Amino acid sequence: MQWWQALTAPLNYPLNPASRMYWLFWVSAGAMALVALYLQYRRQRQGSFWRSLRRTLFSRRHWFNRSTATDLGLMVGNGVLRLLLIVPLLGSHLMATLWVARTLQTHLGNAPTFHWHWLAIALSYTLVFFLVEDLSRFALHRTMHRVPWLWRFHRVHHSARRLTPLTLFRVHPLEMTAYYLRGLVVFGGVSGVFVYLFGGRLSGLDVLGVDVLGFAFNFLGANLRHSHIWFTFGPLERWLISPAQHQLHHSAAPEHRDRNFGTCLTLWDKLGGSHLPAGERPRRLRFGVARSGHTQ
Ligand SMILES: [Zn+2]
Ligand SMILES: [Zn+2]
Repeated sequence: MQWWQALTAPLNYPLNPASRMYWLFWVSAGAMALVALYLQYRRQRQGSFWRSLRRTLFSRRHWFNRSTATDLGLMVGNGVLRLLLIVPLLGSHLMATLWVARTLQTHLGNAPTFHWHWLAIALSYTLVFFLVEDLSRFALHRTMHRVPWLWRFHRVHHSARRLTPLTLFRVHPLEMTAYYLRGLVVFGGVSGVFVYLFGGRLSGLDVLGVDVLGFAFNFLGANLRHSHIWFTFGPLERWLISPAQHQLHHSAAPEHRDRNFGTCLTLWDKLGGSHLPAGERPRRLRFGVARSGHTQ
């Protein structure tokens, strides 16, 4: 790949269903933001709804500021680094999958024959991948908070004063590399085992070529996680990490420190004692790194 192709790669994100920047995920997040803001307005009934909408969603200060400019710069910079250096050096998901499947074949011989229906194979693959993916994200995120020298890198993500969907890209290149490596191990490991066991009969459940659960996660407001729009999942808060719960993770308040490391499921945070439900009432949060130092 040429450097200029890597540099312009972000322009394709809105057309790529595998990216959280895909146009449909912006539309669904926008619709969810409208609902949340309308419900908040109905509770308070102050001034005009449209004026408050303009002030919240389309405020120039929210979109044009130093914090968001840094997010944008890291989106382009990290993208170039990933495509020109990390992928060629560490390898792709496909290579990792084939390597695992071949290694299993070499050391264990032919896999036993399972006469499973294709749907049972697809369902178990989708579910196992989702669980391992979510747990591994939680574990790495928690480690980045707990180990002081790793926190110095993860701090970059938490230094955002304004949360916009672009804050997703605000990560230190070393953290991006760690997450890439994690993805490689998880995808290669799970897919490699399934390819070894089921060979050509393996197919995942997908939408527009994207894993169905990953697609659903992005469609159901993943872009609101990095935003100032308070959106909770109501009774599902107990099971799923809502955008509001991730906003609490970014809060600079000491009482929110080291909470909600998870991505999709609250289960891991519950087991680790770090789960903090969002509650119904919208909270006004200040985002960023607390002056006293460590995580927030
Ligand atoms: Zn964090
Ligand atoms: Zn975040």
